Amino acid sequence: MPELRVCALYPDLMNIYADRGNLLVLERRCHWRGLGFRLTASGLGDALDPGGADLYYIGGGQDRDQKLCALDLAQVKRDAIHQAAGRGAVILAVCGGYQLLGHSYQLGEETLPGVELVDLATVRSEEPRLIGNVAIEVELDPGVRRTLAGFENHGGRTKLGPGTEPLGRVLNGHGNNGADGYEGVRSDNVIGTYLHGPLLPKNVWFADWLIRTALGLTEPLEPLDDRLEDDAHAEARRAARL
Ligand code: GLN
Repeated sequence: MPELRVCALYPDLMNIYADRGNLLVLERRCHWRGLGFRLTASGLGDALDPGGADLYYIGGGQDRDQKLCALDLAQVKRDAIHQAAGRGAVILAVCGGYQLLGHSYQLGEETLPGVELVDLATVRSEEPRLIGNVAIEVELDPGVRRTLAGFENHGGRTKLGPGTEPLGRVLNGHGNNGADGYEGVRSDNVIGTYLHGPLLPKNVWFADWLIRTALGLTEPLEPLDDRLEDDAHAEARRAARL
């Protein structure tokens, strides 16, 4: 029986807006289908095993917690996470975690290093934070367009480098910077997004896409009774005025 191995990076520090709920959804959806699930954690100063997980997860965090994690990620865990991404493991990062995937997160005089998995940079703006319900259109598999719905609250504005693909197109809300209409980043199996909610309880089809991709499964997963989850998704879409 396949087992999904998930490694949560900095689970105590990078866990804003109940982002831990994303891990619970992955665990339950594997469990309900009889798939194995193993959760490990890698905190500040811990070595990261580049072969130890199928999916590496970083949640959102406040600026002060990001400061603690940024150096650790860029120094202690840098090579391992690049190796993991290179062998096709899924890397999922939300908000504060997403901001650390690029080159840097600039906060006034201070510039936090990123782990440089993707070509993007984030700058903390003096303008009002970008807050509210958000919906984006994504095309994770060619020709299949779907909606992710969630909530965003970030002071940082993220700009993607030329040729870097966003995760999706903003249907409603602010997205990466409130200006260019893009949200998140996707580079093969490396995915970053500003969507909290948490993300996966409101978008369980995306949780299933992540499980399938992380395990390298080609067949669709066994369907589950998703009536409650579908209602949550519909409610989130309504909140985002779709
Ligand atoms: N501290 C970051 C910002 O404000 C990320 C916040 C978050 O994870 N919600 O931009």
